[in-house]
Amino acid sequence: MIDRKKIIALLEPFSIVPAHTERLDGYISENYLVVDAENKKFVLKNYADPADFTLIHAETSLIQSVSGKLPFKVPDAIPVQNSLLFVYTDGSFSRLMPFIEGLFFAEADHSDELLINLGKAAASLDLALKDLRNADIESRKLFWDIQHYRLSKPRIGYIRHAGQRKLVEYFFDQLEQFACPEFPFLPHSIIHNDFNDWNILTEGNNITGLLDFGDIAYSPRINELAIAITYAILAKENPVAAAKKIIEGYQSAYPFSAKEIQLLYYLIPARLCISVCSSAEAKSARRDSDYVLISEKPAWDLLERWITLSPVLVKNEFLSAAGFNPVDLSPSKEQAVLRRKKYFSPAMGLSYREPVHITSSAFQYMYDADGNTYLDAYNNIPLVGHCHPYISRAISNQARLLNTNTRYHYTALGSYAEKLLSYFPEKLNKVFFVNSGSAATDLAIRLAKNFTGRDHQLVLKHGYHGNTQIGIDISSYKFDGRGGKGNPEITHTLPLPKIYNGTNESGRAYAAEAINQIEELMAKNIIPAFFIAEMISGCGGQVPLADQYLKILFPFLQKNKILLIADEVQTGFGRLGHHFWGFEMQGIIPDLVILGKPMANGHPMGAVVTTTEIADAFANGMEFFSSFGGNPVSCEAARAVLHILEEEQLQQQAAETGDYYIALLNDLQKKYPVLGDIRGSGLFLGVEFITEKNEPNTELASVVVNRLKDNFILTSTDGPFNNVLKSKPPLCFTKKNAKEVVTRLDEILKAV
Ligand code: PMP
Repeated sequence: MIDRKKIIALLEPFSIVPAHTERLDGYISENYLVVDAENKKFVLKNYADPADFTLIHAETSLIQSVSGKLPFKVPDAIPVQNSLLFVYTDGSFSRLMPFIEGLFFAEADHSDELLINLGKAAASLDLALKDLRNADIESRKLFWDIQHYRLSKPRIGYIRHAGQRKLVEYFFDQLEQFACPEFPFLPHSIIHNDFNDWNILTEGNNITGLLDFGDIAYSPRINELAIAITYAILAKENPVAAAKKIIEGYQSAYPFSAKEIQLLYYLIPARLCISVCSSAEAKSARRDSDYVLISEKPAWDLLERWITLSPVLVKNEFLSAAGFNPVDLSPSKEQAVLRRKKYFSPAMGLSYREPVHITSSAFQYMYDADGNTYLDAYNNIPLVGHCHPYISRAISNQARLLNTNTRYHYTALGSYAEKLLSYFPEKLNKVFFVNSGSAATDLAIRLAKNFTGRDHQLVLKHGYHGNTQIGIDISSYKFDGRGGKGNPEITHTLPLPKIYNGTNESGRAYAAEAINQIEELMAKNIIPAFFIAEMISGCGGQVPLADQYLKILFPFLQKNKILLIADEVQTGFGRLGHHFWGFEMQGIIPDLVILGKPMANGHPMGAVVTTTEIADAFANGMEFFSSFGGNPVSCEAARAVLHILEEEQLQQQAAETGDYYIALLNDLQKKYPVLGDIRGSGLFLGVEFITEKNEPNTELASVVVNRLKDNFILTSTDGPFNNVLKSKPPLCFTKKNAKEVVTRLDEILKAV
């Protein structure tokens, strides 16, 4: 710190005698407020490192060049008598500038007029800077400059919360993919680069001053507007509406192209990400002054808000604010409908009375072509969230390196197998990779039939296990359902052990009934090869197998060498919250486990996990080969899923959110007798709709699902009567999301 004597000495060349001095915040300089005897205020900046001189000199000259052209004040250096802008003393240098009075933008009331004037102020500065060049400024790479967002990436690690890290990774990734390729073609200019709410001074609805040119950079000019918007819309109830006013103001003075305006959707969150990375690093280095952290909380809030905004909506709103026509996606929507009719069988179904045309998605949100954001309370395939950046990167990196098949050695195969099997009991220690749940079902059945030398198969009523011929033949949901031809001769159906309205004895009773049925078969000399079941029947209407059912039935199956195949395609990978695998709920270890759907978050991958005995017996001379099963890209995607599950503690989140969700639904059930049963575990839930006569209420379930969709919440119905509302969202689904679903459900039920 410099002492008062030195301050007096530094001010001498300016003929200023300080009556009062006060230290101010500063980054690379020591800053002092100086008040003279006539109460005139100045800011004195003293720089200790001569290495900073070149850039400070460049900055000071730039301010000098523009100050006369601006409708607001800037910290223009006051020349010393001999017209020098700096005072040099033993290694340090100083400059003096007038203290600019005014109310900070951050503290002002943000009327529409003020927001428009903010846009205009940024434009007037950029117009003044338009033709200025400076080699020192153009050659530096500042982490605050959005185009150099990569410099912030190493700081992501300082963010403590994995869910927040993921948001930053996502928005940086979006910037990289969809904005950066445009950068070389955008108009560049020297920009202020820190048009933030604590650098801008206001009076009423006018911008009266702009401070701190320390971050000036040569960058795409649109970044100036992006930064001005970013800070001005922090903590705004309607950030898009506020941003539109700023765009309107800027555009009226110094227009951008439609392309540049659309890029704002990526640039604004990117600047927020740079800011939160900087705060995280400052915190970890204990440089967390109030000044450094001032926008941290509102920045996180805005990032979390931004992910709920559809890119289509934001881009179109911004385009209209800038006087451009919005992008109209209706031709591609109409084309999708026509092509659907023309090229596909009507057997391929669509959800909802009015189907949704999705354009993109992120985590638990899906965005449609009309600019709406849907809360995804339904899709279980993107287990860790739609378009998770870690998965996109894993897939893309591996696809650039090697994609081949299991006829060769490669690291991804073995390392993923090892990781996956570490989640299983020791007995289940061999894996076959395929590329769908159906292929896994098919292979599991081959393995079981090969091992037992038998052909007959035991299944549960309403079960579904796959779309191949073998899959359909063991899926009562299909062969007993619409268009089905009943069970094949070798398929024997056991009742679904459903305890709704049942007693504690139900599991035992169902097991006894199953044993009876199997014994009857055995009396006819039919011993089945296997019994296949989900631990919570998805297509059966999210029905958990009654307690004790398998605990009692399984020893009987073992005694008769009937293999148990657990279909964990829907229930596996932590979704159930309190258990990683569904079979843990029943306290048994099956002989074979089928995996699919969420395994690689939507990338096609399935597997059969089994014992050494069963796997070895399969090696009878016939080679097992799947062209895609276990390819390195799929293995990398699947490895990323397990990594994210651990990193973001998503099983725990599924447990906590699921318990909360069920509690909310149970409360709702007290209000509405049409809610018959609330069931499931973690984020795999079912709500059964019934009539006054306690019969399935299919009509109401359908109305509710469609109305939820009209309220931008995705769910579906299932079960033999299609009267069960299913919710099985990505595991990043939050309590707030659950609350939103239940609140909307409440409103809908009240209305109907
Ligand atoms: N088993 C279960 C329990 C399923 O829900 C499904 C798919 N709905 C399958 C198997 C078949 O998986 P895939 O669609 O990947 O072939």
